[in-house]
Amino acid sequence: MRKSTELIHTGEHVTSGATPSLTTPIYETSTFVFASAAEVQAYQAGRSSGYLYSRYENPTVVAVEEKLAAVEGAEQSLLFSSGQAATTHALLTLLQQGDEVVCSAAIYGGTHHLITDLLPRFGIAGRFVTLEELADPARVIGPRTKVVWFESPINPTLRCVDVRAVAAACRAAGVTSVVDNTFACPLNQPVLSMGVDLSMQSATKYLNGHSDVTAGVLSGTRARLEPIARARRLMGSILDPQPAYALGRGLKTLPLRVARHNANALAVATALDAHPAIARVYYPGLPSHPDHDTARRQMSGFGGMVTIDVRGGQEAAFRAFDRLQVIKRAASLGGVESICSLPILTSHTGLSDEELARAGVSRGMIRLSIGLEDPQDLIEDLEQALG
Ligand SMILES: *Cc1c(COP(=O)(O)O)cnc(C)c1O
Repeated sequence: MRKSTELIHTGEHVTSGATPSLTTPIYETSTFVFASAAEVQAYQAGRSSGYLYSRYENPTVVAVEEKLAAVEGAEQSLLFSSGQAATTHALLTLLQQGDEVVCSAAIYGGTHHLITDLLPRFGIAGRFVTLEELADPARVIGPRTKVVWFESPINPTLRCVDVRAVAAACRAAGVTSVVDNTFACPLNQPVLSMGVDLSMQSATKYLNGHSDVTAGVLSGTRARLEPIARARRLMGSILDPQPAYALGRGLKTLPLRVARHNANALAVATALDAHPAIARVYYPGLPSHPDHDTARRQMSGFGGMVTIDVRGGQEAAFRAFDRLQVIKRAASLGGVESICSLPILTSHTGLSDEELARAGVSRGMIRLSIGLEDPQDLIEDLEQALG
């Protein structure tokens, strides 16, 4: 089955009877009914496909997890109440006192704070490495390293990391590799097929795609996910059936949406590349991007994120930002509507000039999440805002 067919049909546990439903219903129930003690016994012995309690498993959630596994090309996927919950579960399950996680310095802010503010309280150390250091992945792995956690492309410069090279170095060293693949989305960059052990996604973004759900997902082999699934029962952060349903509906149009995000973003990036008011356009699909070759080797589409660096720095960027009419000023990404944010006021707020320079972030940057509108309307909106 091709991906677009698979994502429509996989995981649909339709109801039976005189009028069977075409889609999986929302099982709005905290608990499930057993007919007998023998049935409960069979469940507890793992001999039944039934359900006990929705903090453990819920049929709507399982149906969507099956669809997500099809998206990722994974044996299994696990859903969480947010991307942050997925990250927290992965790190707290993979690491214990005395262990170290090596993390790319250019990383999602929530991941950074989790590793610097919370994990040290459990005796888990984080070490942040630059993209240059990560380019020689075997050397970033130390004697206490148990996990290497990274992203590609990276916010907001969309710099790319050689996913296969990092995964291979981790495998050789017996270290677990995890990619936060939220920006690319697995249809553009199937990281598990490149040797990565675990794929993490904020499903809040492209997977759901409609800016109306907060959710997270981890995908990999059953063996790797089994302890994480047990931790999810204990920490109690499985996704609710209602948002799971919405996510499952979003996934059915993922291939269509991703193709349009890719095409729209490339059109916007290309149109703005030579704009006199712009110093630089950052998009991995442009030959001018420093990691275009890496992106071409590992991405089948270059995604919907585009960052522009406006000439005239902060003042000019703020002015253009305020003048946008079609593109909305909002945090987050991956929805049908185009939105924009200023990295110095969101992901990189409060950083000194030196720290910004190290992250490759300028005060004139505007980050765009290109949606599914007509690309000409987006280009015209940006041109009038920059004019
Ligand atoms: C949004 C995001 C997260 C966190 O996901 P939530 O669903 O907001 O908890 C993690 N990583 C990246 C790259 C993100 O964009």
